[in-house]
Amino acid sequence: MRPQVLYPLFAPVTKLPGVGPRIGKAIEALAGPHVADLCWHLPVGLIDRRFAPKVNAAPPGAVATLTVRVDKHHPPPNARLPYKVRCSDDTGTLVLVFFHAQADYLNKVLPEGEVRVVSGKVEHFRDEVQITHPDHIASLAELERLKSVEPVYRLGAGLTARPLAKAIAAALERAPDLGEWIDGHFVERQGWRSWRSSLMEAHAPEDADALAPGTKPRARLAYDELLANQIALALIRAHVRRQAGRAVKGDDRLRARAMEALPFTLTTSQVGALEEITADMAAEARMLRLLNGDVGSGKTVVATLAMLTAVEAGRQAALMAPTEILARQHFATIEPLAEAAGVSVRLLTGRDRGKGRERLLSHLAAGEIDMAIGTHALISDDVEFNDLALGVVDEQHRFGVQQRLQLAAKGRGTDVLVMTATPIPRTLMLTAYGDLDVSRLTEKPAGRQPIDTRAMPLSRAREVVAAVARAIAQGARVYWVCPLVEESEAVDLAAAEERFAELSTRFPDRVGLVHGRMKAPEKDAAMENFATGRIDILVATTVIEVGLDVPSATVMVIEHAERFGLAQLHQLRGRIGRGEAASSCLLLYGTPLTETARARLKILRQTDDGFRIAEEDLRLRGAGELLGTRQSGLPDFKLADLAEHGDLLGAARDDAAVLLAKDPELKSARGEAVRVLLYLFERDGAVGYVRSG
Ligand code: ADP
Ligand code: MG
Repeated sequence: MRPQVLYPLFAPVTKLPGVGPRIGKAIEALAGPHVADLCWHLPVGLIDRRFAPKVNAAPPGAVATLTVRVDKHHPPPNARLPYKVRCSDDTGTLVLVFFHAQADYLNKVLPEGEVRVVSGKVEHFRDEVQITHPDHIASLAELERLKSVEPVYRLGAGLTARPLAKAIAAALERAPDLGEWIDGHFVERQGWRSWRSSLMEAHAPEDADALAPGTKPRARLAYDELLANQIALALIRAHVRRQAGRAVKGDDRLRARAMEALPFTLTTSQVGALEEITADMAAEARMLRLLNGDVGSGKTVVATLAMLTAVEAGRQAALMAPTEILARQHFATIEPLAEAAGVSVRLLTGRDRGKGRERLLSHLAAGEIDMAIGTHALISDDVEFNDLALGVVDEQHRFGVQQRLQLAAKGRGTDVLVMTATPIPRTLMLTAYGDLDVSRLTEKPAGRQPIDTRAMPLSRAREVVAAVARAIAQGARVYWVCPLVEESEAVDLAAAEERFAELSTRFPDRVGLVHGRMKAPEKDAAMENFATGRIDILVATTVIEVGLDVPSATVMVIEHAERFGLAQLHQLRGRIGRGEAASSCLLLYGTPLTETARARLKILRQTDDGFRIAEEDLRLRGAGELLGTRQSGLPDFKLADLAEHGDLLGAARDDAAVLLAKDPELKSARGEAVRVLLYLFERDGAVGYVRSG
């Protein structure tokens, strides 16, 4: 249960004074539904009102705070003209200008003959100094209310500056003093203040420098969030590891046979990863390992050999893929190896129904099937294994922690191997997979040719088609990728279909189309036709991004490449350059190109190193966007920016480890504070994993 001290922060924003349902909705869309979310909405700028010149010294364009006497109101002769109020000091006249003004209101706040302080942007109009719609009007007695420096916040639809600033100020008033959850020495070394003081300071910048992410208050808040993330992951990890594992030892007899059937030798990386995995499996503790390798680095083979080890030990193994196509492809890779080893392997997807499925499940439960390959159909309630020793999850950023645990729950003490195709920068690795040990495949299999990558404007598509024709004449197979932007799937689809029609006229009967709206069997058929060479060109939306393996495809054209993320382009490009022949990738871009898009395309032309590309992508886009936060199950940070606060992440991880080693039940004063921290950053689920008694 959420600690009481946090109740005010987790009240809905509509509980704040001045926030009705309409503004509440706008705030929710901008920042979030809770008062706390407003606290996390840090200023992006500031307005300095300390400049207080005399009227005749107020330069145009400056924000100035002027003390003047109200001389005379001039209501407009008709409603289209502005209402003017003449004021002055001993140096000159200031005209205040109001459109659509309410005379009553203006007479109240600007009574003739009185002195008022007004603040706003100075304009010079003809010979007059004027301010249109001053931001503030105050009497001398109210001057207190006028802050000398005002924070400026990012606004959202239906939300203007004043009500938002007011709501945030009210939210901050509700922020309680909370116990310190960071290691005391660390706080001191960093020169940080308490959580509450840091929050207040972050919302009250004195100058532009105070807006930088590296300032003490902001760094501290970012650290708080990272610490919550790292402690949550450490708790999950400890929880999983407490559940007994079982030693799984093979005798190499099946593996040796499969290796013999392989048409290649393993890379040094693959051998290394396999050793780490085998050692983990052989240990009593449960394995929780991530196999991280670039596209085409050969993860599937590694997984297959690990699965055979489980079978050698007389037990079962399963591999779960995010899509039907991928499951089938894994199955196609694994089946011949399994056959060579004399092991039974079956495919289970959502398409299996009725009697066939029943039979399959009963064989699986009886242990007559050694290895199961499938989609999330594998974690359906009615799927039982006789004795599942190893669960492999080909994650491709589509499963989350939950699914990993669900597959593992199909066995007792089941070892888990997670595979990801996108190279993940170290910083992200910690935040998303901090609960896993990591093996990396850092090299590609030998004999791969570098991919010749070029960028050109879409207006040259005609030349590209001619080049494609030449390539096909020489036996090449071509992917033609059309972007799919989620907002308007129908429109995107139309673009892909149009391109398909156009290429079909030019290359009759040699073009296929595959997109996400197609039914799985249609999709498979199109891919199959491409893989077997019945067609030469496959027009596709990004559905081919994940793991499709057609070594004879050597050309890829990507339309509107500027609309894709770097990592995504890299994934796409990874579909070619898989065979012995040289490959080329053409990035067609729409003009004008933004600065960022240009930088992205350039990096892609320069390097083929997925890890470097991922680091650059992180730098250019920010973590959330990189892998698509929602899809990936990556944490969506509110305060921490991994490009800026990456260094703090390592410290947070170490701090979390030390704390949990000393106080695994979170019973100390600091432990109690840490519980509050977890709730503050909505890691409520992780609190359930705190060891008790
Ligand atoms: P990933 O899943 O990591 O993208 P795959 O496992 O699909 O990569 O492997 C890509 C291709 O490389 C497959 O055709 C596979 O058979 C082949 N391959 C894997 N390991 C090697 C190796 N050591 N040498 C040559 N080819 C390999
Ligand atoms: Mg693969």
